[in-house]
Amino acid sequence: MTELATALQNWEPVIGLEVHVQLATRSKAFAPSAILFGAPPNSLTDPVVLALPGTLPTFNKAALEMALRLGVATVSKIRAKSRFARKHYFYPDSPKGYQISQYDEPLCEEGVLDILLPEGGRKRVKLTRIHLEEDAGKSSHAGAFSLVDLNRAGAPLVEVVTAPELGSAEEAAEFMRALHRMVRYLGISEADMEKGQMRCDANVSLRRRGEDRLGTRAELKNINSFRFVQKAVEHEIARQARILDGGGTIVQETRLWDADRGASFSMRSKEEANDYRYLPDPDLPPLHVDGPLMMNVMRTMPELPMAKLDRFVRDYDLREPEARQLIEAPALADYFDAAIKAHGSDRAARTLAAWITTELGGALNRDGKSIEDSPVTPAHIAALVKLIDDGTISGKMAKTVFDEVYTTGTSPDAIVARDGLRQISDPVEIERIALEVMAASPKQVTAYRAGKDTLFGFFVGAVMKATGGKASPQVTSDVLRRLLS
Ligand code: ADP
Ligand code: MG
Repeated sequence: MTELATALQNWEPVIGLEVHVQLATRSKAFAPSAILFGAPPNSLTDPVVLALPGTLPTFNKAALEMALRLGVATVSKIRAKSRFARKHYFYPDSPKGYQISQYDEPLCEEGVLDILLPEGGRKRVKLTRIHLEEDAGKSSHAGAFSLVDLNRAGAPLVEVVTAPELGSAEEAAEFMRALHRMVRYLGISEADMEKGQMRCDANVSLRRRGEDRLGTRAELKNINSFRFVQKAVEHEIARQARILDGGGTIVQETRLWDADRGASFSMRSKEEANDYRYLPDPDLPPLHVDGPLMMNVMRTMPELPMAKLDRFVRDYDLREPEARQLIEAPALADYFDAAIKAHGSDRAARTLAAWITTELGGALNRDGKSIEDSPVTPAHIAALVKLIDDGTISGKMAKTVFDEVYTTGTSPDAIVARDGLRQISDPVEIERIALEVMAASPKQVTAYRAGKDTLFGFFVGAVMKATGGKASPQVTSDVLRRLLS
């Protein structure tokens, strides 16, 4: 048994996440500079970002609207009047010496987010709060020097804080996936973790199975991939169990997850809120959310991931795993909807879903492309499935046609017309070919008739070969069965 499995026999993990998501505004939260990943270091700054004396912040309303979209999507209580606070800490990546955040009057409280459980089903996770804040810059350390890039400083973030009720490393990773999916559906962030647009701190504690009281937690900082969330939490569970089983106690502290080494290191003992000397920011007026703003947000809400999942299962009779695959990215779900529309019949949904998730998904995956760059359009997939449905081409021929659509972007109908592809399904013609095949292989015919059933495939293959793969598999098999018996 692995160390983790042993730990889980006695101990129940409790995990709470604090996730930061960068909002996709064009300019910063309180300053005019643009936000652009990969720009030359320190090219996206201005007097406000640099905290030059006499500068004042002005709040970017676009960030509020985006945060509200998430608040509405998570059924949060939204504060009509919330407030910005200064969170003080001294670090070179924050020129002001404090971060503008929200403290005791956050924008959203008491929301929920449903996650998909790996074993099937869902779990509703409580959100303590969602608040607005600004990002810090980025330091890099090179030997005796430290460098700071302030391009990211002042970018708007939402911080989403869950209640301590995730029960495993998998659930923690699934929460990240659910939030990632949600913000992308809402169009408020690309949430590209490789670009640091979404990252999380994981708080982990253990309690003896059956116990109600929460154990002492450690906080793992700045985890930046789904896989690392899972790894870091698993590692932390095993670490704490080892200490507790040895009679030790857990120190409440902040630890840094080192993905390269697959280990965590103590950074500092946990800071308390009063270490930050929070105070309402006197330079910023309270944030008001009025009726027209809320109406606008509500009116432009898209169909949300779980509603889409339910609809795909209910209306299109998809199996849950396939439906889960299709709702993963909003563009993929839209692609599927468009394919059904192009085909014109809901009954083709399962077949369309299979082509999209297997053939198309496989090819895109192989080439590192996303659905947005697919050379095969929803109309192409629909046309291909129609050609199979009306018997023009076989499923096997369709795969060859698909490959050509994928590489050239030519429509399936054009390829079929150009190459004269047409499945042979006339039993008379197939019978003629089958008789030729049988005449050429008398030994196999005798052996088959003597009981060697496995030879059936040989005859099917021979007919296929003689017709260049165009014989209808169904008709071929019917005809051969009759002739050989
Ligand atoms: P702080 O403000 O000190 O960071 P919070 O109470 O705001 O503490 O909680 C921060 C995060 O830690 C939340 O996601 C919460 O669910 C989680 N958390 C709090 N206590 C525990 C615990 N005992 N075990 C696991 N997670 C916890
Ligand atoms: Mg915290």
